[in-house]
Amino acid sequence: MKFYLLALIFFITGFLCAQQADYVDFKSAAVWVTFQPEAKTVLGEVTYKLDILKSRDSIFLDAINMEFSLVSLNGKSVDFRSDSKKLWIKRKLKKGKSYELKFEYKAQPKKALYFIDWEYPDGNKQIWTQGQGKYTSNWLPSIDDMNDKIEFDLSITFNKNYEVIANGKLIDKQINDSTMTWHYDMRKPMASYLVALAIGKYDKQIEYSESGITLEMYYYPEDSLKFEPTYRYTKQMFDFLEEEIGVAYPWQNYKQIPVKDFLYAGMENTSATIFSDAFVVNDTAFVDKNYVNVNAHELAHQWFGDLVTETSGTHHWLQEGFATYYALLAERDVFGDNYYYWRLYEYLQELDVQDKSGGSTALLNPKSSSTTFYKKGAWVLHLLREQVGDDAFKSAVKSYLNKYAFKNVKTKDFIAEVERTSKQDLSKFVALWLENKDLNYNLMLESLKQSVFIQEYLMVDCELYTSKCGEYLNSGISDEAKAKVIEQIPNQITTDNFKSSIKVRQAIATSISIIPERLKQDYESLLQDESYVTIEAALMNLWRNFPQERYKYLNQTKGIVGFHDKNVRMLWLTLALITDGFEPENKPEYFKELTDYTSPKYSFDIRQNAFMFLQQIQACNEVCRENLKEATTHHNWQFSKFSKSMLQALNQN
Ligand SMILES: [Zn+2]
Repeated sequence: MKFYLLALIFFITGFLCAQQADYVDFKSAAVWVTFQPEAKTVLGEVTYKLDILKSRDSIFLDAINMEFSLVSLNGKSVDFRSDSKKLWIKRKLKKGKSYELKFEYKAQPKKALYFIDWEYPDGNKQIWTQGQGKYTSNWLPSIDDMNDKIEFDLSITFNKNYEVIANGKLIDKQINDSTMTWHYDMRKPMASYLVALAIGKYDKQIEYSESGITLEMYYYPEDSLKFEPTYRYTKQMFDFLEEEIGVAYPWQNYKQIPVKDFLYAGMENTSATIFSDAFVVNDTAFVDKNYVNVNAHELAHQWFGDLVTETSGTHHWLQEGFATYYALLAERDVFGDNYYYWRLYEYLQELDVQDKSGGSTALLNPKSSSTTFYKKGAWVLHLLREQVGDDAFKSAVKSYLNKYAFKNVKTKDFIAEVERTSKQDLSKFVALWLENKDLNYNLMLESLKQSVFIQEYLMVDCELYTSKCGEYLNSGISDEAKAKVIEQIPNQITTDNFKSSIKVRQAIATSISIIPERLKQDYESLLQDESYVTIEAALMNLWRNFPQERYKYLNQTKGIVGFHDKNVRMLWLTLALITDGFEPENKPEYFKELTDYTSPKYSFDIRQNAFMFLQQIQACNEVCRENLKEATTHHNWQFSKFSKSMLQALNQN
């Protein structure tokens, strides 16, 4: 009997969960929220407007571990029940009628909304959200199912010394006393996972697209010099994508906000992309690590993902494959054709590695890896466009977006448009590239060979043609081809090869481990390159190869910080500590600095670097260990995993 009851309950809830979008349409949500950051608490008041499509006895919202009060329906208090996952409203709801559901709630979200640094006086205090993969219902009662799109208007009350950013257009800032209420307005509906806000200390610069859309680019006040390299090409790529896609940007404005300790590279919240502040770079860092690709990717999602949204994970490539492909097109516009084919070649190599380890899956398999969804997805669009031609491809994309705007899509919806515009039967294409799990490496490589640049790269192979390799190094082949040769025959490098571009010199820096005396001087010049990858590799190598010159190398690189994770500074501090006789009076200070970088007030990439260097020189002291313990509970799972395994290793010794 017990079993029977449980089974019945499971059946009913299962049935209701899957079907709610069929009988109720949530139209809009007027949301007001405020925060108690020290208590990591959200307080809110929400009014949902909804239409009943089929009569029902109850409806629900997804709401994880929340407390509700003053729940009313059309102004009258109503029976409700909330458990750890949902808010249930019990009431007969009639087909064809509209209702207004209103309530107040309180939550202490464990994920999807993050309070950063509020416990540290000099921390970079922020609040920001991540709805995809984490569910907005952790902090805002909403609909986890992507198929019910809602117009969310957010109002947020907070300390007026902060900047508050959310989806849509800021229509009003209301000053209370010490607080302010920011009113954001959306005109169109979106899936709940795209609802977002970010709070922190920011400045911003504004540009306008050719079509008149406001592009708001946020940055920390202390990063004004990094603004230009960080947001380089933003307007160009925006204009390019609007033109290329052929459908006007669907939202009122476009905002980009860097945040500390973000979970991913970036997230395409509707009209408000949030991205990792590790991409906030200066001119030198830009060379090796910049925001350009992520910038274009999240922007492309504003159409592919936000305007048209997958119905389920089976069609995830309609979001990630498209965003990856259109980002590549935008980068092609900036960096040229060779870059475009080069990136496709790199994607293919990554797919090949996955394939060889047995990890290939069909693109339409919802359990596919990110590599498949993103990179195979982009490749499939590249190949499809080759097959049907530019015109048919572009007009299919255009009508697909127009037809399904603000709705949900399946793969067949897109394919049907391409079949219509191209007048081709694509069943073979779909079977080969979408349904089949084989990679078809050779077919893909064939497509790349239309690029002379790729042909040359493939031809230059010192494992096959050893005799010619010295010549290759001094010929006019591309930087990528030269780098390949250098990696294959580092012992044949000559002084002349140092007279090359920054990328080729970087290949030299990272490929040679034993520096011959004849190249010492040339190799030393790498310490002056405008590349933090090059400087880090060169400093390490020179220090190792020429012990008698260590003071010189350390003095030369003393003030260099490097990337966001302080790669050069960390290496420098470590080497300074273990170099006999180098500034003995300053060693305690250097050790303190390196240890301090393990503290929670720093970003996790900085902390992880500091932990690794301290472990390498076996100098993780009590302070470092305490910080490591703290790190095991960090919201970034990769970092907490790293910390757990390092702590385990320390405890074993
Ligand atoms: Zn994406």
